[in-house]
Amino acid sequence: MKNNFLYEGKAKKILETEDPTVVKMVFKDDATAFDGKKKGVIGDKGEVNATISARIFQFLKHNGIENHFLEKTGPGEILARKLEIIPVEVVIRNFAAGSISRRLGLKEGLPFKPPVLEFFYKDDRLGDPMINEAHIQTMGWAKENEVARMKEIAYRVNDLLIDLFREVGIQLVDFKLEFGRAGEEILLGDEISPDTCRFWDLETGEKLDKDRFRQDLGGVEAAYQEILKRIGEPEK
Ligand code: UDP
Repeated sequence: MKNNFLYEGKAKKILETEDPTVVKMVFKDDATAFDGKKKGVIGDKGEVNATISARIFQFLKHNGIENHFLEKTGPGEILARKLEIIPVEVVIRNFAAGSISRRLGLKEGLPFKPPVLEFFYKDDRLGDPMINEAHIQTMGWAKENEVARMKEIAYRVNDLLIDLFREVGIQLVDFKLEFGRAGEEILLGDEISPDTCRFWDLETGEKLDKDRFRQDLGGVEAAYQEILKRIGEPEK
């Protein structure tokens, strides 16, 4: 295996492999919040998030949502199809929390029906500003049909994940998706984990995601482990 770095982000490293169409993603234990202003380490996060992502990407694939995931290899490592990343984050919200609560003065937990979809421009320097479809097209970040496809996939992922998590007693509050191009196709990429979703216990309302780190609630590691325990391991 070649081990040439393609990219190192806050939570993952992306390495080349012998196959130019495949990358190795190494999930780190490092945690950041508030545009990198808050930093820490969450024990075992790399391995737990890689495993949770693998489980979710497999589940989505079985349900007709093609994505970049290929296989879970070593601890904290997955192989994925190499994508030409679209610099846009797609957020879906079923309940108010985080930035939308601050921005619009909404009480945490306010239900959204239909769910709210938002776009953010992926740029750490600018603090990932919120954007709309006109920005995406005018700046050339994605074409109109690509934006339509990302929205369609995001809503389908929401429906599927709401059910997956409800069955194990968890409310899917919100999540962030990233997409990329593989040839002519738009594929779901990046990770889907407690770093990129908000999960609340259906019975107790307890937070089981990165908000435990953001808000210094303690029990961060245990919360991530709990998500994995409930949804289970990916198939080998
Ligand atoms: N999110 C993410 N990466 C980001 C920003 C947000 O994964 O760079 C996720 C976040 O974990 C939450 C959802 O997207 O599940 C909505 O985040 P929000 O806009 O509320 O921002 P926050 O208050 O979390 O910074």
